[in-house]
Amino acid sequence: MWKRNAHAADTSAPPGAAAEQLASATDSLDRPLHQLRISVTDRCNFRCTYCMPKRAFGSRYRFLKHSEVLSFEEIARVTAIFAELGVEKVRLTGGEPTLRRDLPRLVEKLARIRGLKEINLTTNGSRLTELAVPLRDAGLSRVTVSLDSLDDDTFRAMNDVDFPVGRVLDGLEAARAAGFPKIKVNSVVKRGLNDSAVPEIAEFFRWTGINLRFIEFMDVGTTNRWQMQDVIPAEEILALVSRRFPIEPLAHQYRGEVAERWRYADGAGELGVIASVTRPFCGDCSRIRMSADGRLYTCLFGIASHDLRGPLRTGASDACLSDTIGRLWARRSDQYSESRGGEARAAPAPQKVEMSFLGG
Ligand code: SAM
Ligand code: SF4
Ligand code: SF4
Repeated sequence: MWKRNAHAADTSAPPGAAAEQLASATDSLDRPLHQLRISVTDRCNFRCTYCMPKRAFGSRYRFLKHSEVLSFEEIARVTAIFAELGVEKVRLTGGEPTLRRDLPRLVEKLARIRGLKEINLTTNGSRLTELAVPLRDAGLSRVTVSLDSLDDDTFRAMNDVDFPVGRVLDGLEAARAAGFPKIKVNSVVKRGLNDSAVPEIAEFFRWTGINLRFIEFMDVGTTNRWQMQDVIPAEEILALVSRRFPIEPLAHQYRGEVAERWRYADGAGELGVIASVTRPFCGDCSRIRMSADGRLYTCLFGIASHDLRGPLRTGASDACLSDTIGRLWARRSDQYSESRGGEARAAPAPQKVEMSFLGG
């Protein structure tokens, strides 16, 4: 089911070195392994109410200790093994990934891995004014900024730490000035919180070249008290936009693309919706996730995980780690969102992993 490539683990190859043709691992439903999401920290400077509500992530919450978190060297080693197994895109996430000290140093290491085509970042944008240039210089390919509202009061209430929206917009501008191509903005829509402002945020990003993606509020984790009535289905989001600005569907660009893409009929650009609740896309899901403490999850909603940090720190060889990962992926049969059905109920899974632990 999966093949190794002897050269991909050579982290000394220069950035952009030509990749050998890699054979992807495939899972039990014939889905290739193409994308790796790496959470570099479980900490965050925001307390978005739908992700890290203060009542659950307060002063008594036990975050990972420094010694429990994978080092940059460990992350790079594992990533090189993933590249060998067919991973082409890596996304750095968190918690808030820009809180991890010296993040550009990690990006530099990842940029040397042969076979990786993209190293992307999802961030709340709060530290981009300082970090956009160093990250770009280190070899980061793309940036996605999460921004749920343009209204300062609503934004401050949603991040729940009184962070002003203007500083995130400054961060977005810094990313643009640093020359990042195809910047994306993720906007989670929750009923009663920010749904009425959908057309306004769409209007703001028209003609900017920034690709706005609306995300349905998902039943990840247990602390956000998810309920179906808080979800604004993609269909409703699109109707809210298209009443103001006519839109036309666009074809998928690649297998495993999670966003449904649309374009404004007047040429003002693209937008997307990620409808993981009402129009799930498990059939093409080619992502694996690694938490900051080195646990692998084959599904965002997975309870089961596989520890890599133990073997990494007790001398396992690259071949052994590769074998473990390849077998894990070959056994994979996850399709949580499709099997729980469009009329989603939060699955009764008391230990579902939190979004802030896996990074989306
Ligand atoms: N802190 C970074 C950020 O906010 O971009 C990266 C981690 S965050 C967990 C990744 C993405 O997950 C963000 O775009 C966030 O809006 C989204 N997210 C978090 N909880 C969610 C939920 N319950 N439903 C849908 N999206 C969610
Ligand atoms: Fe932090 Fe991102 Fe979660 Fe908001 S969505 S609490 S910024 S990890
Ligand atoms: Fe992939 Fe799991 Fe999400 Fe389905 S529910 S798309 S398998 S992460």
